[in-house]
This record gives sequence, structure tokens and C-alpha cells, in this order.
Amino acid sequence: MLEDGYGRRFSYLRLSITDVCNFRCSYCLPDGYQCDSDREFLSLKEIANTISAFAGLGTKKIRLTGGEPSLRRDLPDIIALAAATAGITQVAITTNGFKLPHFVEDWFSAGLTSLNVSIDSLDARLFHSITGQDKLHTILDGVHKALALGLKTKVNAVLLKPCGDTQLSSFLEWLKDVPVTLRLIELMQTGSNLEFFKQNHVSALPVKTQLLQQGWVQVLKEETSGPAEEFSHPDYAGRIGLIMPYNPGFCTSCNRLRISALGKLHLCLFAEQGIDLRPVLSSGTIEEIQQQLVDLITQKKISHQLVSGLTGATQQFSMLGG
Ligand code: SAM
Ligand code: SF4
Repeated sequence: MLEDGYGRRFSYLRLSITDVCNFRCSYCLPDGYQCDSDREFLSLKEIANTISAFAGLGTKKIRLTGGEPSLRRDLPDIIALAAATAGITQVAITTNGFKLPHFVEDWFSAGLTSLNVSIDSLDARLFHSITGQDKLHTILDGVHKALALGLKTKVNAVLLKPCGDTQLSSFLEWLKDVPVTLRLIELMQTGSNLEFFKQNHVSALPVKTQLLQQGWVQVLKEETSGPAEEFSHPDYAGRIGLIMPYNPGFCTSCNRLRISALGKLHLCLFAEQGIDLRPVLSSGTIEEIQQQLVDLITQKKISHQLVSGLTGATQQFSMLGG
């Protein structure tokens, strides 16, 4: 099992398969995707090697992310190979959801076990203004299709100051009947969003207080759920998870590692740099990849330094998948 110097064990890999995206989320890619150089994302073989090496070291859950992972045509093949890898019990994807209605059945048949869909607002006009895409209803159709298939579904929403109370109240209304887990994520500073961050960051602590006052109860975490705090309520079909990276102790339960679409290992989302594993991922043996991982994990720091405004190498989350 991969274990760092602070006793944290890593059973969860976030694997970015592209950094290309077709949305323009105001906190991530406000000017849209810019192609600054020619590059090749990890091939199927490199992805297979990566997943096998991690699985052999105790990884149980793989999340495919990006950029927008559904922009890769071989996504069903990637899901299938992850699902077929011995030791992998959960194959998840994080997506902006624009392809869900057409492809979620294919992904499910390929072996997908859970899905995170990013929906920052249930107001179609606000959704359009945040993401640059007028696609809310298509994405909601996709969410309902996923639920009908029995896929465990979460909805990611970044908390944004101007959306405030209306964002929360419309989600709460929705969760009465829809059995998804809503993940409210505090906006994080990155290398490229400082001004936006200053104007829009809001703590999720008042949301936690409000939930507890309204009878929501904190639930015990699953082994793979990591730093999120999750809440349930007997009158609601859905649940709520809060991701509060600015809270002290957030990193104590870190259980995940990240590989970029170009094959760099990021020991933290806000690590100073990615460590290039591409050569060994493409032509090394599984044992050689594992040896590198076991050696490198000792470099993982106890915590990120976000409160000091240190965002490391991450210019925007589309580089790495969040
Ligand atoms: N394109 C896919 C999507 O949006 O779901 C996958 C990649 S996206 C980078 C993964 C998650 O990161 C999304 O839920 C997005 O809202 C979140 N995210 C992006 N930038 C963020 C930021 N600065 N702070 C907090 N969450 C962010
Ligand atoms: Fe694209 Fe996801 Fe970033 Fe939005 S958050 S711009 S959908 S990568």
C-alpha cells in the first residue's frame, strides 16, 4: 500500500486524460481552452500501465477527469480497462455533463460505477453565465438518465459569493426528491484566478451551521471519500457534502494522488511541480513504475499552503482535474 511519511494511505487515483475543455467556467478557463503547444495525452497503453501499477499498490478507486474527459473518443475503452484491472473496485468520472444524455449508457456498460457532474447553478441563465454554455437542461437530462441506470451520482457545485443563498435554496429544494450527493466546493485560488478568487470566495462554514440547524446530520465517511464532510436528512432523498480546503486539518484525511494527462505525478493539487513519470509509464515495467511511486510518495508534504496564497504549479484545475 502506498503510504506517506505522515501515515496517510492512498487508495484513490485521479487520472487526468486530457486538459482540453469546451466550457469556459469563470473560475477555471474564463477565456476558454488555449492550446499553447503540441502534445500527446497518455495513450491507452500508458493509462493501462498507470492503473495496473497503482492497483498493485492498493489503489481501489480511479477517477477519470480532465479538462473534459468526455472529449476523448476512447473514453469507453479507458473506463473498460480501468474496470477490468484487478483490485480496482470503483471507476468514476468527473464531467461537465454535456455528453451525458448520449453517452452515459455506453460508459455504464463499459464499467463506470459512479459519476460526478459539475452543475454550479440550477438557474439556466446563471449556469450559462458561469460556464459559457447554455446546457443546463441537457445536463440535468443526463443526470436523470444516470440515476435511472443506477449510477451513484454526485453533483459538484463551486460556492460563489454572488450566487449565495439562492444557489443553496434551489439545490435544497431539488435534493428533496433527487437522490444525488451535492458536493459544495469552496472556490480555491489557482495561479490564474486571483482576482476572481478575491471577489468570489466564500467559506462553506455558514452552510454547515445552517444545515445542522435544519436537522441535517453528519454521516460517517467511506474509506474512499477523503476530506469531504457529508450530511443527510430524513426528509431529503439527496445528501450534501462540503469541501472546505481552507479549514485546518483538511489534509489530514488526504487519500488521493493525481496523474496529469501528460504523465506527471502531482503529490498534491497544489504541489510546486508535477514529477515526470512519462518515460517509465510508456516503457518501464509495472514493477519499475511502482518503485518510483514508492520512492516519490515520501516527498508528499503534510499540507497545502493555500491559506498563504501558495497555489503551486496549478494555473487552473483543467490542467489536472481538481
Ligand atoms: N471538466 C470536468 C468538470 O468540470 O466536471 C472535470 C474537470 S473540473 C477541473 C473538476 C472540478 O473542479 C469541477 O467540479 C469544477 O467545478 C472544479 N473546479 C475547477 N476550478 C475550481 C476552483 N478554482 N476551485 C474549486 N473547484 C474548482
Ligand atoms: Fe472545463 Fe471543468 Fe474547468 Fe469548467 S471546471 S472549464 S468544465 S475543466
